[in-house]
Amino acid sequence: MKVNARRQAKQAKLAAQLAEIGFALPGSLTVKAYRCGKQNCRCHGEPPQLHGPYAFWTRKVNNKTVTRMLNDEEVGNYQPMFDNARKIRELVSQLHDLSLELVEPPAANSKPKTATATKATSPKTSRPRTRKAAKPQG
Ligand SMILES: [Zn+2]
Repeated sequence: MKVNARRQAKQAKLAAQLAEIGFALPGSLTVKAYRCGKQNCRCHGEPPQLHGPYAFWTRKVNNKTVTRMLNDEEVGNYQPMFDNARKIRELVSQLHDLSLELVEPPAANSKPKTATATKATSPKTSRPRTRKAAKPQG
């Protein structure tokens, strides 16, 4: 399949970004307060004093939703892996969009995209080497 240079470059960039990502946990992390099952507990009182807030990790295991409470240390340890999973989802989504362009070219009357214009015409890249400013002499 023919792919133009711009899309090839974008695909390579996405692949490189994906390759940099470390461990990634499935599911989602939510923080919430909750009521327990004990009817005489303060969480069922008036006014109710809920337990928490606690962090819960929810994911699917064999098509069943499994929830596990995480302590502060676990949240700290696991958070980067949830962040990584989110990055992977974003990158895969971009890869899907890019790939869809190959098989479903955008319509001729497609709306202009907002704020994605990247003009590579600025020569402002700073060089580490120090050069004397070229001042007009005389
Ligand atoms: Zn309770």
